[in-house]
Amino acid sequence: MTPSTPEPSQVTYATCPLCEATCGLEITTTGRQITGIRGDPADVFSHGYICPKAYSLKELDADPDRLRGPMLRQGGQWRAVSWDDAFAEIARRLTPIQQQYGRDAVAVYLGNPNVHNLSGQLYNTPLLRALGTRNIYTASTLDQMPKQVSAGYMFGTMLSIPIPDVDRADYLLILGANPLVSNGSLMTAPDMRGRIRALLARGGRVVVVDPRRTRTAAEASEHLFIHPGTDPHFLFALVHTLFAEGLVNPAHLTEHLNGIEELRALAAPFTPEAVAATCGITPDVTRRIARELATAPRAAVYTRIGACTQQFGTLTSWLGDVLNALTGNLDRPGGALFPRAAAGARNTSGLPGTGKGIRPGFKKSRVRGLPQIYGELPTVCLAEEITTPGDGQVRALITIAGNPALSAPNGDRLNAALGQLDFMVSVDCYLNETTRHADVILPPPSPLQRAHYDLAFYQLSIRNIAHYSPPVFPRESGQLDEWEILLRLTAIAAGQDATIPAAVIDDMVASQLVQREVRTAGSPVEGRDSAELLAALQPRRGPERLLDFLLRTGPYGDAFGARPDGLTLAQLEAAPHGIDLGPLQPRIPEVLRTPSGKVELAPPLIVADVERLRAALDHPRPPVVLIGRRDLRSNNSWMHNLHVLVKGDDPCVLLVHPQDAARLNLAEGVAARVTSAAGSVAAPVHITDEMMPGVVSLPHGWGHGVPGSQMRIAAEHAGVSINRLIPDDAVDPLSGNAILNAIPVTLAPVK
Ligand code: SF4
Repeated sequence: MTPSTPEPSQVTYATCPLCEATCGLEITTTGRQITGIRGDPADVFSHGYICPKAYSLKELDADPDRLRGPMLRQGGQWRAVSWDDAFAEIARRLTPIQQQYGRDAVAVYLGNPNVHNLSGQLYNTPLLRALGTRNIYTASTLDQMPKQVSAGYMFGTMLSIPIPDVDRADYLLILGANPLVSNGSLMTAPDMRGRIRALLARGGRVVVVDPRRTRTAAEASEHLFIHPGTDPHFLFALVHTLFAEGLVNPAHLTEHLNGIEELRALAAPFTPEAVAATCGITPDVTRRIARELATAPRAAVYTRIGACTQQFGTLTSWLGDVLNALTGNLDRPGGALFPRAAAGARNTSGLPGTGKGIRPGFKKSRVRGLPQIYGELPTVCLAEEITTPGDGQVRALITIAGNPALSAPNGDRLNAALGQLDFMVSVDCYLNETTRHADVILPPPSPLQRAHYDLAFYQLSIRNIAHYSPPVFPRESGQLDEWEILLRLTAIAAGQDATIPAAVIDDMVASQLVQREVRTAGSPVEGRDSAELLAALQPRRGPERLLDFLLRTGPYGDAFGARPDGLTLAQLEAAPHGIDLGPLQPRIPEVLRTPSGKVELAPPLIVADVERLRAALDHPRPPVVLIGRRDLRSNNSWMHNLHVLVKGDDPCVLLVHPQDAARLNLAEGVAARVTSAAGSVAAPVHITDEMMPGVVSLPHGWGHGVPGSQMRIAAEHAGVSINRLIPDDAVDPLSGNAILNAIPVTLAPVK
């Protein structure tokens, strides 16, 4: 091409990696420039829908604050170093800590973006195994562990979560969720507004129960205010009403359910009258909702983040699915069904219909004695595990795509703790409020330089979908892919030579995966020759090799020739708009992995927590409580460094009901001081009747502009951090999840 010849433009189809909705994008590029991003009209799932966040990918890719190469902090100064020097420094400092203080002295924190990232999904596990530490913390215990725990007890695996069949339902009852803004959460569903409008247009009803009239509530048929943290009382009153009025009808499920009579007894104290004052919902309304739910032709109850991040998060999550079962809506079209993901799902692995179920962890956190769940300790424990001396004290930390300094409770305490570490490594593309404490930062490439497949979210999708996208841009010369970064860390964690090539460890990871599968009873490749299967995966390497294997051994896979028309990665590569594997289908009993082979409606540990819920009926309600909220243009804190997502009205305002504003002398646009047992912040007030009286709201993930961070646009839109107000001394006991909502606060005008 001569210098005067314009470069041709190119179109690439990719899945948006920014949230759970997995929208298809059509990205037009000229050379290394993005000239257009729009929804892919031919995408088999999103059909052209995208939200404003998708446009930020261009800015993210070009963001001058985004780190492009490894950084080393020495003497308080950051300097760029080579990859080899960065890994050599990590080996030099991490290995002695492991040797002197033991494996638990190194902790790991995995942030939410890991689950949107194929490398993170496939290569974090080898790193965690190599570290051999019990100090594993993730964002799951900040937002979703209660749902994973209730699903595990009821159905046998942590991601066996029944998903509302939104496109065929006639009735949706939504608690603690704002899917018009999130586009589904633990429910992968692009264009939830369109889907809810379609439900309403076909004569259906949507009822939203929430302390705030959210965007979803504003679109719904009906919105009910509820006092924060009392969702399980309301749900139990619905259960009570179903039993009292003879409306329990599990229909096709009856032979597959354990514990119905136990539920009847458990629900006895939760009459609509008994919970009315606690919830702020009259008995008449509660009974009407129970009847509507029971008599709707096809209905589903959906509980999400607001229902998880409260003191009874697991009970709330459990009761939502109990209602789905008692009304016969579990596992039927139009109700709540289990997706059948093409790759990586535990509920399609091994022998169908029965399994080991789940057990709470035997290991406990060192300081507070909170249990490990699914191999994770509650993130609220991280600060004290760093600062409390003694055997097993955390002295080093590896963070991967996480910003717990802004997302975990009691951020001031965690920030101080991070400053006390002997050594810290961050795999992250920003110098943010957390990674400023690191000694070495290893930045992954831009999301547009990575291949993508949503291993997790297709397990939670309202349709069965498989969509692989190749990188839009090649990596720069010398830039490591994220899986290579993780594997080189794995080698160091295992005490091996820091210079060992990632490809060598990758061969070991692939070999172990294949060998495990051929030993798995019920696998379509059970008993096959692992060397032969590995040879069939040639010449692929890295995430593509592992993904191809998972697809081929998955429920639609070709089983390496045993099902010749089955799915392979090559088929997905030839389908740039994705492959639609059809609507969700009933899967009980095949989906179950409980020891009994039944749906456990009354798991013993959950039942044991019901008395705590009953006792809470008598608790006095604080005059003002704080809740969080989600904004359409925000998901993770790094998004605040993208101008396209922070321009316009300040999103980090305190929402206050007019009655509370008048009572407390708060004025529109003027700062109010918000004080809790954990701390105090000042935030500008926005007075709105979308809030329930006595409830105020701040969004999460703000509080930028901290010295040492380098996110210039975020610093200009700093906001305040809600996590400074959230105590870290209490959790939902069954899941270890942080309690982020219903925080008692006081308000006062700032002079
Ligand atoms: S809804 Fe989520 S997946 Fe879809 S465009 Fe927006 S951020 Fe991307």
